[in-house]
Amino acid sequence: MSRENAIARAGAIFDDGTFFDLLSQWVSHPTESQNKACGDPLRTYLTGAITPYLENMDFRCRLVPNPANPRLPFLIGQRIEGEDLPTVLTYGHGDTVLAMDGCWREGLEPWRVIKDGDRWYGRGAADNKGQHAINLTAIGCVLEERQQLGFNVNVLIEMGEEMGSPGLHQICTMEKEALAADVFIASDGPRIDPQQPTLFGGSRAVFNFDLRLDLRDGGHHSGNWGGLLANPGVILAHAIASMVDARGRIRVAGLRPAGIPDSIKRALAELEVTGREGPQIDPDWGEPGLSLAEKVYGWNTLEVLAFECGDPAAPVHAIPPSAWARLHLRFVAGCDPAEFIAVVRKHLDDRGFEMIEIIPPRETWYPATRMEPDNPWAQWAVASLEKTCGRRPAFLPNLGGTIPNDAFSDILGLPTIWVPHSYGGCSQHAPDEHLLAPIVREGLRIMAGLFWDLADKPPN
Ligand SMILES: [Zn+2]
Repeated sequence: MSRENAIARAGAIFDDGTFFDLLSQWVSHPTESQNKACGDPLRTYLTGAITPYLENMDFRCRLVPNPANPRLPFLIGQRIEGEDLPTVLTYGHGDTVLAMDGCWREGLEPWRVIKDGDRWYGRGAADNKGQHAINLTAIGCVLEERQQLGFNVNVLIEMGEEMGSPGLHQICTMEKEALAADVFIASDGPRIDPQQPTLFGGSRAVFNFDLRLDLRDGGHHSGNWGGLLANPGVILAHAIASMVDARGRIRVAGLRPAGIPDSIKRALAELEVTGREGPQIDPDWGEPGLSLAEKVYGWNTLEVLAFECGDPAAPVHAIPPSAWARLHLRFVAGCDPAEFIAVVRKHLDDRGFEMIEIIPPRETWYPATRMEPDNPWAQWAVASLEKTCGRRPAFLPNLGGTIPNDAFSDILGLPTIWVPHSYGGCSQHAPDEHLLAPIVREGLRIMAGLFWDLADKPPN
């Protein structure tokens, strides 16, 4: 009975095809949460895929109705071995974005896992079925090896992540006791590089708002009225230019972080952002003086997602009556989204743009989160991965993208350890979504080692 054996079991489950079969079964559930007509598969994934799998390991499972949207239920599973043992909360989402049937490469289809070389294609394979399947399988390997886990497990599976996780924060509040734990360990998102085992401890967050300028009814001929009538497109362009400069530097103090703490700077200094397998990086874009890792993990960005005036599809010679833009702020922990609208209002008013209307986000926004690199749980996880892989994992205090991590770190008060099992080129929200087999195999081994260490050597 040993750590090595538990890890070997995880490797064997990959090698003999057991894991591929499990993933194939789970991917076969067409769980499109973004499709309002999709109901049954979202429930059946929990009752028909996850519940039997967990019950086989003596978990007690229950469906929990979603207070925000009845179509998107939750599942809570529990396996309690002893009051005095450490408890882990793990999480995943069983829903996917739309299948995009017919848009996949010839020979591929969304709801069947198809191997092509090292790639395992299927909708939800990377985001997120494959990732939570790896983690639950690894728990099974530790259980088989030790005949008990040596820790307690709470599992939370949601079916609405691709809809913005409606109800997740409420469930974490309502079920606080059932979800209580010492640590949160889950998987989502990409590794920093396919070759590099990665951990992250939080995520940046998102705040979208619109700017709108309505000057009058209808367009007016530019030959008769140009020079006499103000052009809302020109004014809005100048307003945006006052907020972000021509090289992407944010010019509104209240939309920028106060700085990057030294501990975070040191952690980011170890990371290499290559942008491999993506578009070429523009080295002169963004906040001057920051490294690439600091730009994407340690700073905020303000983007224009859309800009409209007149009729872009059929421009005419007229002064358009109105202009509109959607702006998008990606921000790090320490920035308070509750203040953003007031900050932008004051910035615009101070520059003579009082006439521009600010429309706050339609969707609920959540705070960004971040884990200090010297947190004992972060160091414990880094050491565990290093022992299993024989090389040091990358540790990101937070992901550049956004996950609903504050539900776990802020509402449940847990240290949050994320171990991503995918990579940046996985096409997760597009046709041809896939996992990379070598990462799956290493992910199974990593998680078996990590869960083994939870009983064996948890941090004090
Ligand atoms: Zn997704």
